Amino acid sequence: MAQSQSSTEADWVSRFADDVIAESERRAPGKPVVVASGLSPSGPIHLGNLREVMTPHLVADEIRRRGYTVRHLISWDDYDRYRKVPNGVPGTDESWAEHIGKPLTSVPAPAGSAYPNWAEHFKAAMTAALGELGVEFEGISQTEKYTSGAYREQILHAMKHRADIDAVLDRYRTKKDPADAAAKGGKGGKKPQQQKKVDEAELAAEAGSGAASEDDGSGGSAGYFPYKPYCGNCEKDLTTVTSYDDDSTELNYTCTSCGFAETVRLNEFNRGKLVWKVDWPMRWAYEGVVFEPSGVDHSSPGSSFVVGGQIVREVFGGAQPIGPMYAFVGISGMAKMSSSKGGVPTPADALKIMEAPLLRWLYARRKPNQSFKIAFDQEIQRLYDEWDSLVRKVADGSVLPADAAAYSRAVGTAAGELPRTPRPLSYRTLASVVDITAGHDEQTLRILSELDPENPLTSLDEVRPRLDRAENWITTQVPAEARTIVRDEPDKELLGSLDDQGRESLRLLLEGLDSHWSLDGLTTLVYGVPKVLAGLEPDAKPTPELKVAQRSFFALLYRLLVSRDTGPRLPTLLLAVGADRVRRLLGA
Ligand SMILES: [Zn+2]
Repeated sequence: MAQSQSSTEADWVSRFADDVIAESERRAPGKPVVVASGLSPSGPIHLGNLREVMTPHLVADEIRRRGYTVRHLISWDDYDRYRKVPNGVPGTDESWAEHIGKPLTSVPAPAGSAYPNWAEHFKAAMTAALGELGVEFEGISQTEKYTSGAYREQILHAMKHRADIDAVLDRYRTKKDPADAAAKGGKGGKKPQQQKKVDEAELAAEAGSGAASEDDGSGGSAGYFPYKPYCGNCEKDLTTVTSYDDDSTELNYTCTSCGFAETVRLNEFNRGKLVWKVDWPMRWAYEGVVFEPSGVDHSSPGSSFVVGGQIVREVFGGAQPIGPMYAFVGISGMAKMSSSKGGVPTPADALKIMEAPLLRWLYARRKPNQSFKIAFDQEIQRLYDEWDSLVRKVADGSVLPADAAAYSRAVGTAAGELPRTPRPLSYRTLASVVDITAGHDEQTLRILSELDPENPLTSLDEVRPRLDRAENWITTQVPAEARTIVRDEPDKELLGSLDDQGRESLRLLLEGLDSHWSLDGLTTLVYGVPKVLAGLEPDAKPTPELKVAQRSFFALLYRLLVSRDTGPRLPTLLLAVGADRVRRLLGA
C-alpha cells in the first residue's frame, strides 16, 4: 500500500481512515471499503447538508490516497414521500400540494425544468456542485432500487421478522411515551425526553432527511408492519396494511386518501418501501456500509441511528457503520435576494462566491463534532486572507502538520489537484476593484496590472476563477448601500472648509502620487503623509497621536472620493479611481 504523506498523519480524517480500514478488513477482507451518505432531494439541498457528504468524502479520499479501493455511496432518498411544497421554488405554486404523499420521483419537476421529475431536478444541482468539489461518488436512486425489486429478499425478511422489529422499536416507544414517563418519573423526568424528540424532528425536518417522519410503521388492528405500499390508484403512501400472509406473501392494503383497496403478492410487488427506521439498517447490511456519519440529532435514544444499530444486528445479521455525529454548519449573511432557489443557500450558491478548495478547507480543518459557519458576508474576505496566509506557510515550509493536512485535502483529491487560480491576488482587493469598476473588464485589468508594476498582470485569466467569485460576491451578496460609488465631481464644500493642515495633507498625497503608483507604493504614501505632517520620518513607528491623525486623514480621503467615512482599502481605491480622477476629486 502506498503510504500517505506524513503531513496528513495527525488529523481527524486520518484517524477515521485508520479505523475504517481496520473495520472494513475485519468485516469484509479484501473487499472495497464502503462509506455512505444519504440525501433527500425533497427540495433545494441545503448547504448545511453538505457535511453529510464531505465527512465521508474526506475519509474516503484519505483511504484512496493510501491505495485502497473505496465506494462512496450517496443514497438519494428519492423514494421518500413528498412532505410539503418548499417555499419560493421558482416554477412551483400551491398546486404542487396535491402531490403530497407520493414518492419524490412521482412529483412533477418545477415548471421549465429540464428534468423529468421533482427529485431529478434537485439531484442535478447537487450532483453538479459535488463534481466541482471533486467528490467522487456512486449515486444510488432508492426509487430504482425499490421499484426494480432489488430489495425483495430484504423486504420479505423484514415482514417475516416484523415481530422482532416491533420488539426492538418497542423498547424505545416505551421510553418515549409521555404518559408512561409521567407515570414513572413524573413531570421532571419526561420533559427532557420530549424536548429531545422535538429537537430531533425539527433538525431532521430541516435537513430533509428520512428521519423527519419518525415513521417506524404503524400497528393497526392487523398488527405491526414495517412496510408501506404506495397506493395503486393515487400513488400516495396514505395506505394501511390490513393483512399479510407469510407463506403466500399476499398483502392487503387500503388507501385512506382515495379509498382504493388491493391485494398484492409481496414476492412480485415493487411499489412500496420499508419504513425509515428499518430501511436505513437494511441498506447498511445490503451495501456493507462501514462508515456513515449523521447529524447530531440522530444520537438521542430511540433515534434512527441507535435503533438501526439494533435492527441491523438482530434482524439483518449485519453491523452498524462507524457513525460519528456531525455538528451543525451555519451560514452567515446570506443575502435574501440571492438565496436563489427556494430561499435556502445551496452548495452551488457557495461555489458562486468561493473556489472549491476554500469550501473543502472549511470541512477539512474542523472535526465533525465542531460547528462552523460558511460566510456569505464580509467575513469571506477575512477567510480568504486566512487561506492565502496558509498557502504562504505551506510554500515556505513553516506550516504546522495539522494545517498542512487540511490544506492538502482542500486543494485536491486522490485523483489529482482541483483547478486553482494561477495568480491568486487577494480576494479583498479583487472584490474592491470589481466593486469600483462594476465588472468592467478593461478597467479591471488596468487597475490590477498597476497593483504590482514590476510584474504586471497581462490577462484577467491569470486571476480567474477567483476574480469571478469575488465579482459574484460583490454583485449578489453586498447590499447596495455598502457598494462603493466614486464621486463624479469634487466635493467643493468640503474642500473649501479644510484648514491649512488638511490642505497640506492633500498636497503631499498628490505630490507623491506618480512616484508611488503601485499597491505597495500607495500604502507607504497614505500612511506616510500624516507622519511627514507631524514632522516625523516617513518610516517612523506610529504613536497613538499619529494613529489618530492617520484615521482622520483616511476619513477625509474617503469623504472626498466616495462620499462616505469608510470604503475599500485606500491604496486599492486610489489605483481603482485612477490618478487623473484622484487629482480632480482632491482639488488639484
Ligand atoms: Zn389512494
